[in-house]
Amino acid sequence: QTPLTASEGLPKELSPEQIENLETEKYTFQTEVSRLMHLIINSLYKTREIFLRELISNASDALDKIRFISLTDPEALKTKAGLGITIAADPERKTLVITDTGIGMTRQQLKENLGTIAKSGTSEFLAKMEQNNDAITQIGQFGVGFYSVFLVADKVTVASKSNDDPDQYIWMSTAVDDFTIAKDPRGNTLDRGTQITLYLKPDAYRFLQEKNLKELVHKYSQFITFPIMVWSSEE
Ligand code: ADP
Ligand code: MG
Repeated sequence: QTPLTASEGLPKELSPEQIENLETEKYTFQTEVSRLMHLIINSLYKTREIFLRELISNASDALDKIRFISLTDPEALKTKAGLGITIAADPERKTLVITDTGIGMTRQQLKENLGTIAKSGTSEFLAKMEQNNDAITQIGQFGVGFYSVFLVADKVTVASKSNDDPDQYIWMSTAVDDFTIAKDPRGNTLDRGTQITLYLKPDAYRFLQEKNLKELVHKYSQFITFPIMVWSSEE
């Protein structure tokens, strides 16, 4: 059973008109989160590939959650039967798109999980990073692994559809102090799950190459029990 088709792996990009007409709600990142993001986006790190480990781990967690719910509520999988992860590179747009058919997030959860509610480990992690840049590899242990996307991207969107929200929402950030959330003008393209689009920084373009991607996914998916598909539209 195929969780996702190729066309689902690469989303239709929002057009400039769609972006202009978006009814966005603006939120300010919680102070520690903001400091963390500034640090991540403005520093040079040896190990940047770990962002992929963090995104795969989050996708896997989200898939575990919907699978667990489906044990007592089989209806939960009706929105999307296949459980899996797709990683698609688009060398033309310079984007990397990670899609899962997991539990997804409601509008409220996007806002709380990705920026406004403080995680207890954030300040401890900040202190560690100030001592030693190499601590970046431990980011996942402090409950803020998602923000490692800013090691490689200067703009990130997260589209998500939860069974508990009638609409799909899209979270957007350019790693400054605020982020926005809007109802996705493309509609409920996901049925259920989350799609993260990374607009890569030029020095991270090597992650668009299928060979590099496949190597990394292999490295970071050893303990992942869901199927992961990788492709690049290059050639
Ligand atoms: P952690 O995974 O340790 O909780 P992260 O910073 O990696 O910390 O992620 C923050 C939160 O964002 C997660 O706990 C989860 O609620 C939400 N989240 C992130 N990625 C996804 C995803 N792919 N699907 C659903 N929820 C997600
Ligand atoms: Mg995580």
